[in-house]
Amino acid sequence: MNILYDERLDGALPKVDKAALLAELRAALPDLDILHEAEDLRPYECDGLSAYRSAPMLVVLPERVEQVQTLLRLCHRMQVPVVARGAGTGLSGGALPLEQGVLLIMARFKRILEIDPAGRFARVQPGVRNLAISLAAAPHGLYYAPDPSSQIACSIGGNVAENAGGVHCLKYGLTVHNLLKVDIITIDGECLTLGSDALDSPGFDLLALFTGSEGLLGVVVEVTVKLLPKPQVAKVLMASFDDVEKAGRAVGDIIAEGIIPGGLEMMDNLSIRAAEDFIHAGYPVDAAAILLCELDGVESDVHEDCQRVDGVLRKAGATDVRLARDEDERARFWAGRKNAFPAVGRISPDYYCMDGTIPRRELPRVLNGIRELSDEYGLRVANVFHAGDGNMHPLILFDANLPGELERAEALGGKILELCVAVGGSITGEHGVGREKINQMCAQFNSDELTLFHAVKAAFDPQGLLNPGKNIPTLHRCAEFGAMHIHHGQLPFPDLERF
Ligand SMILES: Cc1cc2nc3c(=O)[nH]c(=O)nc-3n(C[C@H](O)[C@H](O)[C@H](O)COP(=O)(O)OP(=O)(O)OC[C@H]3O[C@@H](n4cnc5c(N)ncnc54)[C@H](O)[C@@H]3O)c2cc1C
Repeated sequence: MNILYDERLDGALPKVDKAALLAELRAALPDLDILHEAEDLRPYECDGLSAYRSAPMLVVLPERVEQVQTLLRLCHRMQVPVVARGAGTGLSGGALPLEQGVLLIMARFKRILEIDPAGRFARVQPGVRNLAISLAAAPHGLYYAPDPSSQIACSIGGNVAENAGGVHCLKYGLTVHNLLKVDIITIDGECLTLGSDALDSPGFDLLALFTGSEGLLGVVVEVTVKLLPKPQVAKVLMASFDDVEKAGRAVGDIIAEGIIPGGLEMMDNLSIRAAEDFIHAGYPVDAAAILLCELDGVESDVHEDCQRVDGVLRKAGATDVRLARDEDERARFWAGRKNAFPAVGRISPDYYCMDGTIPRRELPRVLNGIRELSDEYGLRVANVFHAGDGNMHPLILFDANLPGELERAEALGGKILELCVAVGGSITGEHGVGREKINQMCAQFNSDELTLFHAVKAAFDPQGLLNPGKNIPTLHRCAEFGAMHIHHGQLPFPDLERF
């Protein structure tokens, strides 16, 4: 069947002859581990967004770059779609397999190839866990700054593909700001190096273009990351508020004071109570919201900044401000925040994690809007998020066993993202678009912008074989989804005025 690029991206995939593909793979790559029995495929049928499931046709587990090259060349020749997967912790269905495709697991590429303390970089394979880089760099007094809450499990290849963020990205930048170089294999098996060992390189910035491309442009086989010296001192302040909107306003006040905290996170009452029950972090369970503000650097600066932030927080209406007494308490404050997602998982059969980013000044209005939408849809929402970046993570609590609740949770999530776009924000801050938010891309971008995305995709992958059906909606899909279509960035959102 001659299938058009556009149709393929809409999920219309040609039937692949599994037996023929298996035979060709075995002949070309006799030592490649391949899974093809139904029970072996089952563990791979979803990523961290478990509401979306689909078993892959085949799973392959290469260990060498040449195997990846041969595999991609073969899939290219046979027109078989390929989905790359790292650790599978993604929350937007980016690594969701295709029934008519190969799932390419990169988890066995887990060697740290080089740590260069003088050059302050690490060269690693894509399956290396995010936290493992900082652990390996620690003896040199260095660390890798982007720290997703999933850092104990997620892979650096997945971080590059999602442009992952974390608590410390407010001050130190996202993944894209902490990369020097990435080696990728294209769908026709070519090896390309994007970026360089130097700070800048001529030509288009393909490294930035590739970062966050969600496995649609190539497969990452090596990553060179920047390492930073560990700050001499880090202190954390916890501020309690009796009103969520006051806490939201305090976030902008701190930045307006000219201070960039190492991390500035917010939790509302539902997430405070869930985390406290789980971790016993010492959180005030009666507070409507808390802010955790970390200040890092040299001792004298940190001391002074703590005093200034304390003043700003109290002026903004904080009912209490506590400086963590020692390293133990600081670690506990952060443990509560980092475990907030699993903590919320303990108080609800299911939760759906949203990921929208808004301009900081809009925090109070959007938090208020989320509360109203939560009442309207009859579903509880816990807010725990990177407040300094305006990167919100509303967690919608639901029970998938109750008829219609999943659909209601999805509809509520869609409305929250529309609200983010309407106030000048975006439908994702760090979790990516994947399969989950593909319709909301029609709200975020107009047809000219989406056409440009397709042109970039086609330059790397003209047949649309890498991760089709994710990240970029076709114009056809947007037309079907017409109710939300936007023109030149203006989302019609008649309801907005009420928030
Ligand atoms: C509890 C929890 C907390 C989280 N907290 C955060 C957070 O604070 N910040 C944040 O940014 N994210 C967070 N995430 C989401 C997730 O961990 C990140 O998106 C992470 O970057 C995914 O990495 P992974 O290795 O699991 O990738 P996967 O889930 O395996 O894949 C993600 C995407 O990357 C692509 N991909 C994977 N490897 C490659 C490769 N080698 N080459 C090309 N494409 C590839 C896949 O095709 C897919 O599109 C969280 C997830 C969980 C479960």
